[in-house]
Amino acid sequence: MNSGRDICFAAEPTLGKLAKWLRLLGFDTSYDPVVSTKKNMDSGRKNCILLTRTKRIRDAKLQQECIFIWSNNPFDQLREVIDTLGINYTDTHPFSRCIRCNTRIQPVEKESVRRNVPDFIWQTCDIFKICGRCRRIYWPGSHTQRSHDIIMRLFDRYDHR
Ligand SMILES: [Zn+2]
Repeated sequence: MNSGRDICFAAEPTLGKLAKWLRLLGFDTSYDPVVSTKKNMDSGRKNCILLTRTKRIRDAKLQQECIFIWSNNPFDQLREVIDTLGINYTDTHPFSRCIRCNTRIQPVEKESVRRNVPDFIWQTCDIFKICGRCRRIYWPGSHTQRSHDIIMRLFDRYDHR
């Protein structure tokens, strides 16, 4: 991928799972299940790459860069995006963004989240991050091992160990 390029995505309402995965990889991805693709296109995210499954949109002469997603399977959809743009593992920043609202998460004082995480987690973890927008709290392990495995599989990282 061209380094220095700050890519962002605008995902169609049908691509919720794909949007979540792109956020998990750290990519700025707008997605709203009730905002139409047309509105998304008009929403000032014109510099972002539109992800669509709508042939009418693919075939329209858009100003905006667009990737047409073929697969029904979220993992394969993710692979389509990664392959089309030539994204490498080093282009990603896994677990740096809130998967619920797309905001970058920030470190937070352990003491301040005491009442907001399960006791067991508070006692065993020392590093916490918070989403400044929706206040969701993240800690190592709050993203499952499964997510990690899927990312490793996506970039074939297991082969290089
Ligand atoms: Zn959030």
